Amino acid sequence: MKKFALSLGILATFWLNAQSIKTTIDLVNVKNDKVAVTMEFPKMKSGDVKFHFPKTVPGTYSVDDYGRFVEGIKFFDNKGKEIAFTKVNDNTYSLKNAQNLSKITYLVNDSFDDEMNTAKHKAVFSPSGTDIEEGKVYLINTHGFIGYIDNMQDVPYQLIIQKPTDFYGTTALVDQDKSESTDTFTLANYAKVTDSPLMYTKPDYITFNAGGMDLVLGVYSPTGKYKAADFKDNLEKMVVAQKKFLGDMNTNKKYAIMLYLSGGDGPQIKGFGALEHHESTSVVLPEMMPKEAIDKTITDVVSHEFFHTVNPLKTHSEEIHYFDYADPKMSQHLWMYEGGTEYFANLFQIQEGLITKDEFLQRMSEKIANSKNYNDTMPFTVMSKNVLLDEYKDQYRNVYEKGALLAMCLDIELRKLSNGEMGYRDMIRKLSQRFGENKPFKDDQLIDELVTVTGYPQVKDFYNKYIAGSEPTPYEKYLSMVGVDIKKQETPPIFWFIKDPNQTGYNDKNNTFVFDEGAALSPFAKSIGFKATDEIVALDGKTINIQNVQAFIDYSKTIKEGQNVTVTILRNNNKMELKGKAILDKMTMEHLQFKANPTAEEQKLQNQWLTGKK
Ligand SMILES: [Zn+2]
Repeated sequence: MKKFALSLGILATFWLNAQSIKTTIDLVNVKNDKVAVTMEFPKMKSGDVKFHFPKTVPGTYSVDDYGRFVEGIKFFDNKGKEIAFTKVNDNTYSLKNAQNLSKITYLVNDSFDDEMNTAKHKAVFSPSGTDIEEGKVYLINTHGFIGYIDNMQDVPYQLIIQKPTDFYGTTALVDQDKSESTDTFTLANYAKVTDSPLMYTKPDYITFNAGGMDLVLGVYSPTGKYKAADFKDNLEKMVVAQKKFLGDMNTNKKYAIMLYLSGGDGPQIKGFGALEHHESTSVVLPEMMPKEAIDKTITDVVSHEFFHTVNPLKTHSEEIHYFDYADPKMSQHLWMYEGGTEYFANLFQIQEGLITKDEFLQRMSEKIANSKNYNDTMPFTVMSKNVLLDEYKDQYRNVYEKGALLAMCLDIELRKLSNGEMGYRDMIRKLSQRFGENKPFKDDQLIDELVTVTGYPQVKDFYNKYIAGSEPTPYEKYLSMVGVDIKKQETPPIFWFIKDPNQTGYNDKNNTFVFDEGAALSPFAKSIGFKATDEIVALDGKTINIQNVQAFIDYSKTIKEGQNVTVTILRNNNKMELKGKAILDKMTMEHLQFKANPTAEEQKLQNQWLTGKK
């Protein structure tokens, strides 16, 4: 009966082509860093047509208005005649009596060349951004290239990439044609489109299989400093450990990692990190990082993104399941989606032996210190629900700090309650069995579901106090249960621009110090009107030289309380001077350490916590 099956297959293909949205991205004829996109549609369902680009996409938790990177848009009917339209906002176009709309064409600009904070928008986070560098690299986060029509989001897309024959596309999608000059992909719906980034470069990739999953890593290194093969051993070790930790919670058969290293004469971008997708992740890091640092970051960041396959990609609330790209509704549960994920990304490393016990505690210490830069009494659920609003968005990054600590404390609470039998991972596993890919939970019923799956009503008390309530989490109390003490240590008074000098970074393009956007300013910085997004060029005329950062720090150490100080900064690329009197600032460091003489019960719980064994 082979013939019958074959003819059915062909029929399905015809049907799909007739009913799909054919989208062509032209990477061959690129002019002025702009890429032409053509979308061809099956018959419209009505004459009132709204065409959108996303306001935001899942996983970014920021308003980015991807439509603002699009220009020269034209709408055509089935006779090739242009149709008039109204531009409603950055993202949305409205057409009347357009039942014959059959084609839309436009040019896309990349976000990397325009990556700056403006009054209306924060810079697009680089891993969810787009890059068009003719002859070098095309980072295609599809939501920046492809739009959708209301009520047609469930129509399949046929994506055709016209590419230089010597370019390779790293993606989890499977190319359906044999041609060297085109790649053809079929995507079930618009959600699948935005879930499927691609990176085209001259070929540099490795593939391997880990725990039954095929993995591809594609690398773009602008100066050629790194090759994909450089990262293979570390990545393989990490993925094997992670698959082991997850067990049946992860069912991925394939996974693609697009590693974009920024440097050389490429665009100047700052959003280092990664964005999660079901079968891939896009990672952006500075090329200047030493190999060991990239390996460590891959372990931390790629594992974090891979843990997202559990949550929120697979197990999530209705807000995420029925994601509204034009008017997104946020869930209350970033503590679990991001915090729990970040906790896993650390916990699996200690449980699978990638880091030591002390390194694990050091990481949790840092999270406690970093969480102090944020509002500790703002309920996490409230921040989460409102994270797109101006008053809340600066709190977002606390999901990686306090969010992870909340998951840690809940893990300890569960272990204590269950005599070590159940932890956070077991709870999430049970939740993912109860819900899943096609079965979202109701956002305000999550906590009751967690009580059901764990069997412990105390989980709800924890949630009401520390997650949905305004009570700061008593880390000391929970850590003590697993034989860990918090020691407070005060630093000598120091002169610096932010409270925690560890959040200082270096910008090799400008030879400047840059800071984490969420970094809390020192009293001195506040007194001179310094902003966390400003870059430090010089202190009293002494400039920064990466070969000799110590000289600059040594000079800053000579500054006395009340001394006149001049700081040269870059603000939105304008050089300016800020002057004021020095204020020295003490920092209280909280240091976690294992108790020298834990009780037998504490020691048992600690072992269960750090090994995951019962
Ligand atoms: Zn995340």
